[in-house]
Amino acid sequence: MKSELGILVELQKTDTRIRQLKENIESAEERRAEIEQEFEKHASSIRDIQTRRDEARESKTSLEAKIAEVNTGLERANRNLKNAQDNQQYEAAMKEIDSLNKQNSKHETGILENMETIEETEAILEERADEVNNLESDWEKQQKEFDTALAADRKEFDELTKEREKVFAQVSPKLASVYNRLVTRSRDGIAVAAVKEESCSACNMSLRKQMIVELKTTDQILTCESCTRILYVNEEESVEAAA
Ligand SMILES: [Zn+2]
Repeated sequence: MKSELGILVELQKTDTRIRQLKENIESAEERRAEIEQEFEKHASSIRDIQTRRDEARESKTSLEAKIAEVNTGLERANRNLKNAQDNQQYEAAMKEIDSLNKQNSKHETGILENMETIEETEAILEERADEVNNLESDWEKQQKEFDTALAADRKEFDELTKEREKVFAQVSPKLASVYNRLVTRSRDGIAVAAVKEESCSACNMSLRKQMIVELKTTDQILTCESCTRILYVNEEESVEAAA
């Protein structure tokens, strides 16, 4: 049969785990939103590049149409030049040709710029092709993993809550009230603290040698003189001490 201290240690371990699971469950939606945000950031950075590429393609197409239009105008102006009857008509045709050529040269510069953008964005998308292709499936996988982990936490929480009741029922009413008081009082929910390096692991206070000896040799309920938590020695520490 387990000592009372042993039961308290078990109770504390169960409660600490329950607390952790409760935190996980309560923060789940917040954590899910964070994952979503991270994914959205990722997806939008890829969308931005795709948009830049598409806009450059559209702009290039529209400039090509404009050049075709200007070329039609140039043909007409060249005809006018050929058929000029006087100096005035000749100069008007020359002026028009000059202006149309300038327009085309501007459009051509625009096309070159667009081609650069297209090339640049396509190279980035090519480099990130795996990422682009796996974006959706990665997202689904991440969501599934999250849901699986959350479901496991919920299941463990329910199981441990039931188990906890059984363990708690074994504690004497007097100790149970001490335990509850300590748990409610401390922010970390620790009522039963392990001894680590001859100190109380909850408040770090060094323990008197005599107390450590008692803790290692008896199953007495002893409390930390500083934080009043119930103390226990881990089996490994006891083994170390014996060796
Ligand atoms: Zn302490």
